[in-house]
Amino acid sequence: MIKNNCVYCGLCADTCKFDAIKVYDDYYYTKDGKLYFARLYVDGERKGEFSLSDKRCQVCTICVKNCPTSALSCEDDKILFDEENCIYCRECEQICPVEAINIDFEKEIKEEIEE
Ligand code: SF4
Ligand code: SF4
Repeated sequence: MIKNNCVYCGLCADTCKFDAIKVYDDYYYTKDGKLYFARLYVDGERKGEFSLSDKRCQVCTICVKNCPTSALSCEDDKILFDEENCIYCRECEQICPVEAINIDFEKEIKEEIEE
């Protein structure tokens, strides 16, 4: 495993026949200081806010093809987001060639601090 490349989507844990991999729900920071949220179960607590810029999006569908949980789809030349399926792994945000996707974790954290 190349640790800095892992987005903690949990897909390997689901597919390993020997139950050799565990992914824990947690926050973690990448080497460039970005905050990521990892969780194994889709039904768990949800953090982050997904947004997609229609102005930037070229509907190349790279994000759709690489989403591990099929939370993204393409209909009538538009990318659709299914919040129920998203595990907030941030793969789509990283892979988009025109930076059309943003997943905001900072907002949630600020709200938690203010409460
Ligand atoms: S990868 Fe980016 S440009 Fe391509 S469809 Fe997804 S959001 Fe749009
Ligand atoms: S963050 Fe993006 S790639 Fe990851 S599950 Fe959600 S929509 Fe799919």
